[in-house]
Amino acid sequence: MTSANSTSEYESVSESESERERDPESAVETARRQLERAAAHLDVDDGIIERLQHPTSVYRVSIPLERDDGSTEMLTGYRAHHDSVRGPYKGGLRYHPDVTEDECIGLSMWMTWKCAVMDIPFGGGKGGVVVNPKDLSRDEKERLTRRFAEELRPIIGPMTDIPAPDMGTDPQTMAWFMDAYSMQQGQTEPGVVTGKPPVVGGSYGREEAPGRSVGIITRETIEYYDWDPEETTVAVQGFGSVGANAARYLDELGTSVVAVSDVDGAIYDPDGLDTTDVEDHDETPGMVSGYDAPETLSNEALLELDVDVLIPAAVGNVLTAENARDVQAGMIVEGANGPTTSRADEIFEERGVPVVPDIIANAGGVTVSYFEWLQDINRRSWRHERVNEELETEMLRAWNAVRSEYEDRDVTWRDATYIVALSRIAAAHEARGLWP
Ligand code: GLU
Repeated sequence: MTSANSTSEYESVSESESERERDPESAVETARRQLERAAAHLDVDDGIIERLQHPTSVYRVSIPLERDDGSTEMLTGYRAHHDSVRGPYKGGLRYHPDVTEDECIGLSMWMTWKCAVMDIPFGGGKGGVVVNPKDLSRDEKERLTRRFAEELRPIIGPMTDIPAPDMGTDPQTMAWFMDAYSMQQGQTEPGVVTGKPPVVGGSYGREEAPGRSVGIITRETIEYYDWDPEETTVAVQGFGSVGANAARYLDELGTSVVAVSDVDGAIYDPDGLDTTDVEDHDETPGMVSGYDAPETLSNEALLELDVDVLIPAAVGNVLTAENARDVQAGMIVEGANGPTTSRADEIFEERGVPVVPDIIANAGGVTVSYFEWLQDINRRSWRHERVNEELETEMLRAWNAVRSEYEDRDVTWRDATYIVALSRIAAAHEARGLWP
């Protein structure tokens, strides 16, 4: 670890009117506005809200990577710790060229709410390395991961901060990460990361879990609005582990998944695609746009299709002030983290388009991470069926809590979800108090 920065320099959101107009905005700006909105509905001490606008700490590390040609490249990595009042920091590590300190902070805030909505005993963390994983060979990716694990070793651990996969990282990355940490600790510590392959303490069902939860929450929302799944059309942006598993779940439920996309473009069949026939990005990159479908579209056009449900499950900030008025979907369920900017959210609210937020919809990932961590510390694995049954139970429990806030107050689905999360976090802060 080369430096550890305290982040007291972060200014309060309400002060910055010029930023208010900027769209797309950074993840941390979106996260702060969402917190402010939810806080307005609750009687929570201002000091607690102010505290939650800031991360506890942010670590920045320099990672010397030995490239295959023998040269050394310096990369930058981050790990943001937002809040741990309810338990160890928890959240993914992403390898992506656009990773920034602010993005990690915003994403760590979302992890705090996500864990609280699901009522699991974790706080929020997020990290990443500024790198394009497509530019790395497998050996380079392994060396990078092991060195990153070593740089983060002082601040992670099964009882302090538990990373997981995110964009650009996968179960193999987590296996290397766990191995590097364990070798230094002198004992195998599977609980230091989740999302590992099952042979080294990973949980069955973890990889599909975020997409599965998007499917479950979409199913519940369709039912809430009394729509018939058989009559419902769905478009999914992104066909990686979240998008593909959500699309396949909804296809099996009987909805008609008419469009899916990868980074190169979308395929469209008004009669419905066979989602099991389209290979996902992890199976074969490029297979989506290479698929023989009746029509191809751009990713932007997919977002504006005349469908019942739109699931953005690729990257952040795809629904903005620019395109929110052109979105024709009757409902949006967020598969990616932060796909909707604050301005777009306001436009959807004005237009009466329900947006079910990421922090519940894709929370199946961290929920099965929690199951994995329980299995690791108990040294006892669960059957796949048990994982899926318990995931279904937890998703319904969270959904019912959110639905009751939505029904009791005149708020959006996002506000209702934040109200559930923030009430739990604020109560925990009040119970614990401020010390030293
Ligand atoms: N990266 C995932 C997310 O954004 C999972 C985090 C975890 O399992 O800790 O929810």
